[in-house]
Amino acid sequence: MSPYEKSAALFKAASELIPGGVNSPVRAWQAVGLTPRMIVRGAGARVFDVDGNSYLDYVGSWGPLILGHAAPPVVAAVAAAAALGTSFGAPTPGEVELARVLCAAVPGLDMVRLVNSGTEATMSALRLARGATGRPRLIKFDGCYHGHADSFLVAAGSGVLTQAIPGSPGVPPEIAGLTLSLPYNDLEAVGQAAGRYPGEIAAIIVEPVAGNMGVVPARPGFLEGLRQICDAAGILLIFDEVITGFRVARGGAQELYGVKPDLTCLGKIIGGGLPVGAYGGRRDLMTQMAPSGPIYQAGTLSGNPVAVAAGLATLAALTEPGTYEDLEEKGAWLARELASAAARKGVDLTVNRVGSMLTLFFTAGPVNSLEEAKKSNLTRFRQFFQGMLEAGISLAPSQFEALFISRAHTPEDLEQTVIAAEGVWARWN
Ligand SMILES: *Cc1c(COP(=O)(O)O)cnc(C)c1O
Repeated sequence: MSPYEKSAALFKAASELIPGGVNSPVRAWQAVGLTPRMIVRGAGARVFDVDGNSYLDYVGSWGPLILGHAAPPVVAAVAAAAALGTSFGAPTPGEVELARVLCAAVPGLDMVRLVNSGTEATMSALRLARGATGRPRLIKFDGCYHGHADSFLVAAGSGVLTQAIPGSPGVPPEIAGLTLSLPYNDLEAVGQAAGRYPGEIAAIIVEPVAGNMGVVPARPGFLEGLRQICDAAGILLIFDEVITGFRVARGGAQELYGVKPDLTCLGKIIGGGLPVGAYGGRRDLMTQMAPSGPIYQAGTLSGNPVAVAAGLATLAALTEPGTYEDLEEKGAWLARELASAAARKGVDLTVNRVGSMLTLFFTAGPVNSLEEAKKSNLTRFRQFFQGMLEAGISLAPSQFEALFISRAHTPEDLEQTVIAAEGVWARWN
């Protein structure tokens, strides 16, 4: 009898009812040649499947769970909020408090609007950029993922990249044609594009630390250079900090690198595991949104009190002194020890990391762009994923994603991870 019998049966049923058996493509584990475990419970750094197996988890719900699973203050806040009513469709005090916390923490936010997902945040920020500038075109970067709205599904990262499809059927060429996707970390290409379409580019959107082609940090000078090009050409700079916000620093990558965008998109951590996104930025831009201005965007469940409570509890817990030092220390230790273990076993490995987000690329590297990320040996990645899973460690099921360390991961958990990895690599000789 298979130790994954119940997961397998449920996934079979799911595949009859839900396309690919999942509600978000990468969860289907196609890239690693397995079928996914059905998860029933999480606690701290661990998750438990329907068959009773447990895993040390580095997926962290794809980024939101910086405190770990079922963090007690978050669970308590959700329960308390739910008991008061789950939604009113009217303003609530929690929204004001979350807006206050976000604007205080993130340098580029004068004002902010709450939405329900990262996708909503980016599509709304783009509409605002187009509405405010009166320009149609958008620059993005190859391998960056900004959610699944039409304009962003051009050379996108995350699941689109994992499935090896360049764009998506259903996106009209007239829309896709307005999006220019350029190589990440290539300022020269951006300068040329800006010169080619004077007065036509509304915005440049960038993940200031790319996380959706695997972790690829911006090279020194890249974000500063984007800021300069935008200022010179009247283009709005949008930082998509849906992953990096409250992850690489409390104020996100813009705090870490000292570059201020015009608009910022947030998601993941700010909802503490419930559906929350946000976009915000300069006051003169944000006041152009309805109802204070003419650019329209709305949401029945936006600012939902239960979700907002989870976000507030998470962001409050992250103010504990030493939080980001702890995440940095754990990330640095894990990256260094995994790299040494790979070197001892003669495995070609490049570890890219910023704070508590990292990717193990199975290539000698360096990896500064999508083109270089794609040099990774995907067979090796698949074997690594499978080996780690057998050792009870759950990684994101794609080479082109990040591992997330949470506050709940202990030094012993990290040691267990290195020992397991070295064990997998020992068998490759
Ligand atoms: C996850 C992600 C999104 C999309 O957020 P959803 O909540 O999945 O819609 C957008 N941008 C980045 C950088 C992301 O990592």
